[in-house]
Amino acid sequence: MAAGGRTHFMQFFSRDKVNTFRPKKKFEQGTLKFNLHKQANASLNSGIDLKEVVKLPSGEDQNDWVAVHVVDFFNRINLLYGTICEYCTDQTCPTMSGGPRYEYMWCDGHHYKKPTALPAPQYITLLMEWVESQINDETIFPIKVGVPFPKNFLQTVKKILTRLFRVFVHVYIHHFDKLVAIGAEAHVNTCYKHFYYFVTEFSLVDKKELEPLKEMTEKICH
Ligand SMILES: [Zn+2]
Repeated sequence: MAAGGRTHFMQFFSRDKVNTFRPKKKFEQGTLKFNLHKQANASLNSGIDLKEVVKLPSGEDQNDWVAVHVVDFFNRINLLYGTICEYCTDQTCPTMSGGPRYEYMWCDGHHYKKPTALPAPQYITLLMEWVESQINDETIFPIKVGVPFPKNFLQTVKKILTRLFRVFVHVYIHHFDKLVAIGAEAHVNTCYKHFYYFVTEFSLVDKKELEPLKEMTEKICH
């Protein structure tokens, strides 16, 4: 189960890392979203068909289904980066790159009005803070049952998932050896496959954004 996976993962953290990169949003027990969240996670044991489990269960609202997944992916990617963040510094990673062919620029329209090159840890911190602010905004991710999602919900979700994907790109391409060293490779691959099947099932990340990990994806996602 995902919860077990998290506990297992936590042992890699020193206390200060836990405080920086930890699950930041939980679903209230007893709410529809909590039940969906459980449903989405219940089948994450090894050996299950991730391509199937991402599909919208009949009778469920697609926006609700998407929302719980976005929050779960945020939490998991946050933990994932937490496991290697001490190895990702301004010195090791002076740019937010995914190999020699890809470099991401940060732009938020406020502090960074133009696309700006930043060291990877700074870029990823800004990225995670931005995603967190989106999912904690109740006008975008309504908490109460019956409160409708905004019209541009899927557009916002696409932006969130496109940005979260970049963390996979950076971690896989620049810190894969560390993932292997701490024994997290299988866990990360499962998390990635789940993410990949989910975003392709609902067309939430453009093909060209998925390019940097294309070869690896072909190997692990059949
Ligand atoms: Zn790095």
